[in-house]
Amino acid sequence: MSKVILVTGGSRGIGRSAARLCGARGWSVGVNYAGNAKAAAETVAEVEKAGGKAIAIKGDVAVEKDVIAMFDATENAFGPIYGLVNNAGIIAPSMQLADMTVERMQRLFAVNILGSYMAAREAARRMSRSRGGKGGVIVNMSSAAARLGSPNDFVDYAGSKGCIDTFTVGLSKELGPEGIRVNAIRPGLIDTEIHAVAGSPDRAAKLGKQMPLQRAGTANEVGEAVVWLLDDASSYVSGSILDVAGGR
Ligand code: NAP
Repeated sequence: MSKVILVTGGSRGIGRSAARLCGARGWSVGVNYAGNAKAAAETVAEVEKAGGKAIAIKGDVAVEKDVIAMFDATENAFGPIYGLVNNAGIIAPSMQLADMTVERMQRLFAVNILGSYMAAREAARRMSRSRGGKGGVIVNMSSAAARLGSPNDFVDYAGSKGCIDTFTVGLSKELGPEGIRVNAIRPGLIDTEIHAVAGSPDRAAKLGKQMPLQRAGTANEVGEAVVWLLDDASSYVSGSILDVAGGR
């Protein structure tokens, strides 16, 4: 069955891979991005080449009206939303808590926590059976950092992802009776552009050898887990937090 999926932060990295793999199943994808229109257009082209349909939607997940607008745009283009990939997330330069500004922490929590909550809220409003929806799936993007804590690098980021884990557990129980499955993925060290923001563009190559599987993961390897959780193959999986972390 064809599905309509919104991927937040779908223009690059893990979100792009998830979008492309949705396309390969013939699904329709709203590709949200923050500012990189060129990257978003490339994702749209990749989804279409893979066999799906896609539109690019600019919007900041930390801004309520943008979140509502990205759902509206996806539904106007393709019909009722079936799945949300709550993927948009940011990191900030490596440092200890004592050196962090409040502005940095506010922005990080606004995008990683509030943004995820607002997008999930919008999905719940549209997909809940008691509100006229047909059910669906939410996949939250956590991180192995939620388990590891990321000392001396980004305890703010790690904490934001711990929040996503707890949110996933609670929301899955709240929305199960509404026909909505809610799960999270905890990627480990994945080779994307996010590490450049933390000040270490070669982090994946440098630290990869220390992983039990002796390499960093690819965005595609996380995307495969995303589409499995979106697909009917995982129809009895809810409230789960799936580590895609190479054994880390
Ligand atoms: P990435 O390559 O840096 O891509 C980030 C994506 O999020 C881009 O599409 C970006 O849009 C979008 N984005 C950023 N801020 C946004 C905002 N405020 N509103 C809407 N979209 C926004 O990141 P990634 O590595 O693929 O990470 C994706 C998710 O996986 C994040 O939640 C991250 O925390 C999580 N994760 C990553 C790793 C890893 O090692 N890479 C590990 C664990 C968890 P633009 O292109 O427009 O900038």
